[in-house]
Amino acid sequence: PNALVWFRNDLRLADQPALRAALDEGYEPICIYIHAPDEEGAWAPGAASNAWRHRSLKALDGALRSRGSRLRLFFGPSLQTLQTLLMACDAEAVFWNRRYEPAIEKRDAEIKKKLRGQGARAESYNGGLLFEPWSLSTQQNGPYRVFTPFWRAALAAWRLPAAWDAPKRIEDVAEGPDGVALDALHLAPTRDWDADFWERWTPGEASAHEALEIFVEGALRGYREQRDRPDRVGTSRLSPHLHFGEIAPWRVAAELEALRTASAAADIDAYLRELGWREFAHHLLHHFPATAERNLDARFDKFEWARRHPAQIEAWRRGGTGVPIVDAGMRELWHTGWMHNRVRMIAASYLCKHLRQHWLEGARWFWDTLVDADLANNTLGWQWVAGTGADASPYFRVFNPATQAEKFDPEGDYIARWVPELKALPVPARFAPWTQPGLAAKLAPDYPPQPIVDLAEGRDRALAAYRAMR
Ligand code: FAD
Repeated sequence: PNALVWFRNDLRLADQPALRAALDEGYEPICIYIHAPDEEGAWAPGAASNAWRHRSLKALDGALRSRGSRLRLFFGPSLQTLQTLLMACDAEAVFWNRRYEPAIEKRDAEIKKKLRGQGARAESYNGGLLFEPWSLSTQQNGPYRVFTPFWRAALAAWRLPAAWDAPKRIEDVAEGPDGVALDALHLAPTRDWDADFWERWTPGEASAHEALEIFVEGALRGYREQRDRPDRVGTSRLSPHLHFGEIAPWRVAAELEALRTASAAADIDAYLRELGWREFAHHLLHHFPATAERNLDARFDKFEWARRHPAQIEAWRRGGTGVPIVDAGMRELWHTGWMHNRVRMIAASYLCKHLRQHWLEGARWFWDTLVDADLANNTLGWQWVAGTGADASPYFRVFNPATQAEKFDPEGDYIARWVPELKALPVPARFAPWTQPGLAAKLAPDYPPQPIVDLAEGRDRALAAYRAMR
């Protein structure tokens, strides 16, 4: 019998529970992808994400073809497409791996109910998380709102699935329509603003595994110390691969666990903890689905953000705030579709605190420009920085971008790389050019002499707004 294997954010063939289930149960798999961005609610994938997906789908199709099969592409609506395909392909089942975005969870539940109601099999699996959102709960049987106890519970329940290698051969099935060509989905940009991306990134399962190997042989040693340094390649850069499911998180975790020695333990634990933040983000989004748009901490619903300031927002987006580390980060984002985590925090903080713009303003820009844009991680990141979220960063903690730069980019190399106008200005002036106006005018004449919002004034205004709320 035939079965549809519906690929979504699980664009890989190894460690693929839906594909595995279809094969284990003796079905001939028909591999499909359905393009239906309007089913994602307010968070249809952004431009950078689409550019990545275009290449990842191509890689998946290539991997399937080398095994005798292929990926068939269709347009939504998903339910109708699945119904039509079940008939046309003479298939009796649909298998897929779960996603956890609120709009998608709701859609998938409806699809499952409808298909089952019509006598088809519809089965979903965990393809993307170490712990699905409902598998860990507090002693009161509720969701966690704080990371540390969540992670403690996760470690107590720690168990990694065995590896499942990609099948060597997958027979093609003759029945059913071929679907549309990849270009017809219009995921790839029409102007090549993404050209620089592909100097850094190669989407697809093979390069996801390569990126893991590079990390394991390189930056893993010293990760705990180096992960906050944007001037070095100190992290794994696996985030887009993980978001698109080009590699399973349990495969990443298992490869690290296999290297555990007394001297490697601290770096491995630090890395697993970051994977833990990804798990926690999905836990929160599932249990508090409104938080993609609304403050998790409802006290902030009364908070007075500044009026929307289009000129300041534009300066922030383009890396023209006059605050070097913020501008460096925003330009790295624009050119590569990615920004180092420490700099994401600093740039987000400047927008939410110094400019007092609503965190959603920043979340939406990141959503459009990040290749790893992920509703769970992005929402958690922005609410954490804004101080409106789960725990840890109260609103009154305001990052000072100049001292942050001095600490985490001590030689100023990261700033010089992304803001070449500041290259000739030595450190520490490079972290805060306005503190040495004479030198800056001479050595960095093309860089703004003052930030769009002064650091001390911005901080004071942010704290005043916070006091007013309380
Ligand atoms: P590594 O340090 O190598 O970490 C390994 C993996 O752990 C990452 O690939 C990622 O999947 C996960 N991870 C690491 N840090 C976090 C974190 N703080 N929260 C959740 N997961 C984490 N990450 C995204 O994947 N998508 C987003 O849209 C996103 N938006 C963010 C927005 C803001 C404002 C902030 C502060 C952080 C955001 N992050 C987001 C989290 C983090 O910045 C990235 O996951 C990380 O920089 C990716 O680089 P890496 O793969 O080299 O990380």
